Amino acid sequence: ISETISSCFLTSTVNCSFYFKIGACRHGDRCSRLHNRPTFSQTIALLNIYRNPQNSAQSADGINAVSDVEMQEHYDEFFEEVFTEMEEKYGEVEEMNVCDNLGDHLVGNVYVKFRREEDAEKAVLNLNNRWFNGQPIHAELSPVTDFREACCRQYEMGECTRGGFCNFMHLKPISRELRRELYGRRRKRHRSRSRSRERRSRSRDRNRGGGGGRDRERRRSRDRERSGRF
Ligand SMILES: [Zn+2]
Ligand SMILES: [Zn+2]
Repeated sequence: ISETISSCFLTSTVNCSFYFKIGACRHGDRCSRLHNRPTFSQTIALLNIYRNPQNSAQSADGINAVSDVEMQEHYDEFFEEVFTEMEEKYGEVEEMNVCDNLGDHLVGNVYVKFRREEDAEKAVLNLNNRWFNGQPIHAELSPVTDFREACCRQYEMGECTRGGFCNFMHLKPISRELRRELYGRRRKRHRSRSRSRERRSRSRDRNRGGGGGRDRERRRSRDRERSGRF
């Protein structure tokens, strides 16, 4: 008898490999497999927090009202803002990734992997009481630790035939400059907060040299007023 019981027990507790690898599964809470929620993890997920302007701004004839360049700028700004907020408020970020998928369970998900589990825990507790862009934030500890396992390899090669509704992560790349700026800070770990501010405003001044840079500045501050953000 005990053998039958234990085998029943085993079949009903098969881990959902999607939840385990990707931290999200399209069946959500109704999944027949087990979503084993971690009690501690370095990684947190902010669900549905990034809004790609190209997905919402389509004109009547179906042509994108937002150009690829504008979309990348908007995305880089979002990424920088969230990344900086995480590091300044909660602790060192090892890696941050944003999903460009369209399925409800993955759209706009942001995964932040902290260096320390305590920081991830602190971040989840605190972020669930905060708002972003006028929406309450939903944050949770995520089982994802190895993003290579969670990623869609075909997407990285530019050949995923499932498109936005793929169930593996389609991670949206940030610009090379921003990557260098954010992950390059690593080497100057112990700088003070005010010094980083200073450094950033200095690099913005440099951008102001050309007319294009000034336009961008203006557009950025306009965006910020409109959205409100954190
Ligand atoms: Zn599942
Ligand atoms: Zn894919």
